[in-house]
Amino acid sequence: MNLNIARPVFRFAPSPNGRLHLGHALSALENQRRAHAADGRLLLRIEDIDRARCTPELEAQIIDDLAWLGIDFDGPVFRQSAHFADYQAMLLSLIDRGLAYPAFMTRGAVKRHVAEHEEQGKTWPRDPDGAPHYPGDDRSLSLEERWERLESGVRHAWRLDMAAAIEAVGKPLFWLEDTDDGIVETPADPGAWGDIVLSRSDAPSSYHLSVVTDDAAQHVTHVVRGMDLYHATSVHRLLQELLGLPTPVYHHHRLILGADGCKLSKSNQDTALEELRAKGVSPADIRVMCGF
Ligand code: GLU
Repeated sequence: MNLNIARPVFRFAPSPNGRLHLGHALSALENQRRAHAADGRLLLRIEDIDRARCTPELEAQIIDDLAWLGIDFDGPVFRQSAHFADYQAMLLSLIDRGLAYPAFMTRGAVKRHVAEHEEQGKTWPRDPDGAPHYPGDDRSLSLEERWERLESGVRHAWRLDMAAAIEAVGKPLFWLEDTDDGIVETPADPGAWGDIVLSRSDAPSSYHLSVVTDDAAQHVTHVVRGMDLYHATSVHRLLQELLGLPTPVYHHHRLILGADGCKLSKSNQDTALEELRAKGVSPADIRVMCGF
């Protein structure tokens, strides 16, 4: 009998740049429920690449809130800030293949560029989150110009050349979405995002690059996260394909909306777990509030 059958691996991956709210509780509980039903393992990954906004105090609060809520994690806590070298290696492999380029336009310059375009009545493409695509003029810089600017120390980000990346993959991409109606093959549309950021001068990796690197490194088989990240999965599929990484099954769950009908934010006092705990709300109450 083969007892070495790999168990499914789930992960909850909060960013310690704010406090957990009811939306995070729902996500953690949904991961716990699914991991339990599949006899899987549940890992905790702290997504702290944003060194300016993530703090040890917020991380400690998150870990405390999750323990209070009754979520047990398997294995040690995985911190992204300890893995910058891994993300750098992934970035270098994309640069080597001519799929990433240094992008020199500041946020302000992009804003002005887009505004000028739109003032002339022309539309400018926007990504699924509503942010304008990067203009991409830097894509056509000669190698010489690129290195001259890099050597002069100008601040820059590294961006994926989306058109080149899609061409390099050369086939339509899909992911498996675990829905109420079963597993559905879902087409990925990474082009909708334009030239995404892979690393910035102030953060040596981006969310997209780190998340696919770590899901592979941690052997994650099931990604359970909110609908707000549904479209990001298109980018994750593309990066997995480019970097030769495996693809987990995805489930994007419903979001808890605030009284204004918008997604909860970390600044929202009423729904912060810390606040609710202080008011005497119990973990069982939180489960009910999250629809469990
Ligand atoms: N760190 C992300 C967040 O807190 C979640 C990333 C993911 O689940 O892929 O929204």
